[in-house]
Amino acid sequence: MITLALSKGRIFDETLPLLKAAGIQVTEDPETSRKLILPTNRPEVRVVLVRATDVPTYVQYGGADLGVAGKDVLLEHGGQGLYQPLDLRIAKCRMSVAVRADFDYAAAVKQGSRLRVATKYTTVARQHFADKGVHVDLIKLYGSMELAPLTGLADAIVDLVSTGGTLRANNLVEVEKIMDISSRLVVNQAALKVKREPIRRLIEIFSTATQKR
Ligand code: ATP
Ligand code: MG
Repeated sequence: MITLALSKGRIFDETLPLLKAAGIQVTEDPETSRKLILPTNRPEVRVVLVRATDVPTYVQYGGADLGVAGKDVLLEHGGQGLYQPLDLRIAKCRMSVAVRADFDYAAAVKQGSRLRVATKYTTVARQHFADKGVHVDLIKLYGSMELAPLTGLADAIVDLVSTGGTLRANNLVEVEKIMDISSRLVVNQAALKVKREPIRRLIEIFSTATQKR
C-alpha cells in the first residue's frame, strides 16, 4: 500500500493532474465526501486528507509514505526526516511583507524602529528581518493575518500573496517579497527504502508531468 497525504483545496486540485499522469484517479470528491481516506482506481494507492500544516508531520512519522506540501509549510516544519525530491511547481504564490496603505514601511525601517509583525510564519519572518537587521516583535497568528494591521495588533504582516486581491480588499499593500513559494513532493525516508520501486516510479512520472506544465 502507498499512502499519499494531501490537503483539501488548491494542493489537492493541482495534484490531481499529476496523479492522472501516473494512471491514478481519486474515486471520491473530498469536497462532498466526509471520508478522510480516499480510495483510488488503484487498490494499492490511497490518499489521506490532512491539514496543509500537518502534511510534513504525517510523512515524517510514516502516517503517509508521500505528501505534497508548500515550501512555506516545509520551512516552518524544518523538514526533519523528509526526503524532498521534487518541486512540483503547483500552488504557486509568494511570501511577502504587507502593511496598511498609510504606514510608511521604508521610513520605519530606515529609522530603525522596532516593528511588530504578525504572522503564521515566524521562522521565515524571524530570519528575514534578522538578515535585514530590522528589530521585530513577532506575533504568532494562525489565520486572518490581514486583520492585524487594521486593528493595531501589528505594524506589518508576513503572509502568502498570489493575486494581491485579499490585501487590496483590506487596504493593505505589499512592500517586500521574501520568497517565491510552490509545493514540493515529500517522501518518508524509510518508505523510500522499503517501497523503493513504486515510489521511484511515481517520482519519475511526477517529474516528467511537472516539466510539461
Ligand atoms: P486553511 O486555509 O485550511 O487554514 P491553509 O491556509 O494552510 O489551511 P490552503 O489555503 O489550502 O491551506 O493553502 C495550502 C498551501 O497552498 C499553502 O501552504 C501554500 O503553499 C499554497 N498557496 C498558494 N497560494 C496561496 C494563497 N494565495 N494563500 C494561501 N496559500 C497559498
Ligand atoms: Mg488558506
